[in-house]
Amino acid sequence: MDREDDLDVLRAAAAMALDYAATVDSRPVAPSPEAVAGLAAFDEPLPEAGLPAQATLRLLHDTGSPATMATAGARYFGFVIGATLPAALGASWLTNAWDQNAALPAMSPVAARLHDVTRGWLLDLLGLPAGCAVTYVTGATMANAACLAAARDELLARLGWDSQADGLFGAPAFDVVIGEGAHSTLRKSLGLVGLGRSRVHVVPADDQGRMRADALPDGLPGPVLVCAQAGEVNTGAFDPFDEIADWLARRPGPAPGWLHVDGAFGLWALADPTRRDRLAAGLTRADSWATDGHKWLNVTHDCGLAFVRDPAPLRRTFTAAAGYTPAGDAFDAMHHTPQSSQRARQIEVWAALRTLGRAGVADLVTRACDAAAEIARRLADGGLTVVNDVVLNQVLIRLDAPPTSPASSGASGGDEPSGEALTRALIAEIQADGRIWCGPTLWHGQTAMRLSVSSWKTGPDDAAFAADVILTCAARVLARLTPAVNATGR
Ligand SMILES: *Cc1c(COP(=O)(O)O)cnc(C)c1O
Repeated sequence: MDREDDLDVLRAAAAMALDYAATVDSRPVAPSPEAVAGLAAFDEPLPEAGLPAQATLRLLHDTGSPATMATAGARYFGFVIGATLPAALGASWLTNAWDQNAALPAMSPVAARLHDVTRGWLLDLLGLPAGCAVTYVTGATMANAACLAAARDELLARLGWDSQADGLFGAPAFDVVIGEGAHSTLRKSLGLVGLGRSRVHVVPADDQGRMRADALPDGLPGPVLVCAQAGEVNTGAFDPFDEIADWLARRPGPAPGWLHVDGAFGLWALADPTRRDRLAAGLTRADSWATDGHKWLNVTHDCGLAFVRDPAPLRRTFTAAAGYTPAGDAFDAMHHTPQSSQRARQIEVWAALRTLGRAGVADLVTRACDAAAEIARRLADGGLTVVNDVVLNQVLIRLDAPPTSPASSGASGGDEPSGEALTRALIAEIQADGRIWCGPTLWHGQTAMRLSVSSWKTGPDDAAFAADVILTCAARVLARLTPAVNATGR
């Protein structure tokens, strides 16, 4: 194969990617059952002799592209995912062509420089302390784990224990406090760094999933690691950071603890002046913060960011000196992250921030929050139940049985489907409809439909469209499951 053939492979791939990008908004959000069944085309034995690269990419596009979820589009509202800004996608193509290892400045001067540039920009944009270390990992799960590992080693060092040298067996104990509404992966991160998924004090949450500061535990003896949250994954609610930070500061001893914040998507609210003070008061008082780039900042997967107020613990935890790793003043990512070799994730973040600017990031947050509020308003007007206070980009919806007329309620009362059954049926109806996508969650023991507006593309028209689809699907479900009620008019 000569060099020109190699370039032809890349040209073909670029054309296929462009074809996908051009059509992602006009196709159903979920793949058709035929497209998913078509994945059987991949079930072939490992070829004995290699096959042509162009044909391989063609198979990937023809079979793989139709079997994607259109999370890169405007009308996907499932989980909390995020699409990709054109500048970020383009930067990722170039970054992949470069194939830089961002572990050390000696391996990639451009990655090192753009790390430093994004560090400064992000701290400025989010209003975090100027001395923070910023590191790039695979997502918020690993960003939480990185921060928690640094916190663990720092708190143990204050107790006279070198956990990097001596491990955790026999180490002095300290307490870990999390909120009842903590994300499921926060416990995974705690387990990963040896602090235990269940060896935690769980602070009860209020009706929006916020940690109840009045219920923080009394009488904990030693240092405490508190894990708070910016952006409850169902409601978008923020913990009361000022009260939590005050509680921590009131604890006895010179080194009372460490406050960590999981802000996988919510941390970006700091970039929006209209939400910063209203939602996030005290958020910047923490010792460490985790967030995702791939969710709300709309860069490609996988990109998580860890911010640590004091860089020294991060370096102590993740350093891995070898004879050939040069010591220098430049930031060496491999000594501040769980990884050694690593993608230069900062390049897409740089491209996203540069093309958006300060105003653009604020607008990204505002537009998504406005779209969420608009969807909630239209659905409430249409008779659906909005379960949460829509303070950010998350909306929880239930379809409850409409009130029956006095005459019919006595006769048919026991046979009416529950709100639970109706909500589940609504979600199934929407997923089968395919024009938008949202999924279920469990909220206070009941099923709710969760919508997350996390794509930079989702605007007011998409919000109106989504509400229309949901109301149409709700009407179909009610006509099918509550025919008696429906006949009396809703
Ligand atoms: C998504 C999310 C996580 C996990 O993030 P990943 O990027 O999937 O690792 C953690 N916490 C919260 C609040 C989240 O929304």
